[in-house]
Amino acid sequence: MKIQFLESCFGDPLLQMATTYVVNDRLAVDAGCLGMAKIGLQDRVGDVVVTHVHADHVASLPMYVVNRLQLGVAPARIHAPADVIEMVRGELFNDRFWPDLERLSTEESCLVEFHELPVDQPVNVAGIEVVAIPVDHVVPTYGYLVSESDRTVVVATDTRDTDLIWERAAARDNLAGVLIEASFPESQSELAEVSGHLTPSGSARQLEKIGRTVPAIAVHLKPSNRDELVAEIDALGCDGLEVGRPGTTYSF
Ligand SMILES: [Zn+2]
Ligand SMILES: [Zn+2]
Repeated sequence: MKIQFLESCFGDPLLQMATTYVVNDRLAVDAGCLGMAKIGLQDRVGDVVVTHVHADHVASLPMYVVNRLQLGVAPARIHAPADVIEMVRGELFNDRFWPDLERLSTEESCLVEFHELPVDQPVNVAGIEVVAIPVDHVVPTYGYLVSESDRTVVVATDTRDTDLIWERAAARDNLAGVLIEASFPESQSELAEVSGHLTPSGSARQLEKIGRTVPAIAVHLKPSNRDELVAEIDALGCDGLEVGRPGTTYSF
C-alpha cells in the first residue's frame, strides 16, 4: 500500500499546515490540502474519508469537490460516520461557506455524494477496506484503519490519549504502519491536553499500547514548533518512530 503525505506549505514544504494522506492514488484521508494539490491527483482521487471538521482537515474539501466537477469526472464521494457527515453538510456545504451542492444536484446531474460510514465495521471504499474508530478530540473525530493487499495502516489524527483504536490496531496481525499525531512540544503539554492533542511522549505511549514495534510516522507537528518537536521525537528513541516528511510517498 502506498500513502502519499501531501505538502501543504508554500515556501517550506516540510511544514504541515493542513492534512491530506492519499492512499494508492485513489482514496484520501482528509482534504485539508487536497483541493490545492495537482489537478491530476484530484482527478484520480474520487473518494475522501473525513476524520473531523476542523479547518486543517477540510479547508480545501469544497474546492476539491468543484475541481472534480470542472474536470468532468465522477462527483466526489465523501465518507465519514453520521455525526461528521452532518457537520460537513452544516458547516461547509451550507449555502454560505460554500454552495449546498446536494440541493443543487438533480436526478440527471449529481454534484457530490455523501456516504455515512458505520463505526468500528469494515467498509470497502474505492477498493480499500476502511474502518472508522472513534478517538478522543474536542469535536467528534475518527481514526481509520486502512487495509489493502493484506496490509493495514492506522491513521490516528487528531486525538489525545485514547484506547480503542490501539486495541483494534494490536489485533491486526497484518499491521504494517501507523500515522500518529505529535502536535505540541512537551512544554505545551497542558495546551495539548485541553485541545485534544498529543505531545511526543504521549504519542510514544499510544504506540506502546500496540504491544510490538511497527513503523510509525509522526504527523501533524505544529509548524511553529517543528524543530523542537523533531528534537523531542529523536530524543525519545522510540523504536520504529520517525518524523513524517510532507511530499513523501510511504510504502507499507
Ligand atoms: Zn482537530
Ligand atoms: Zn488537525
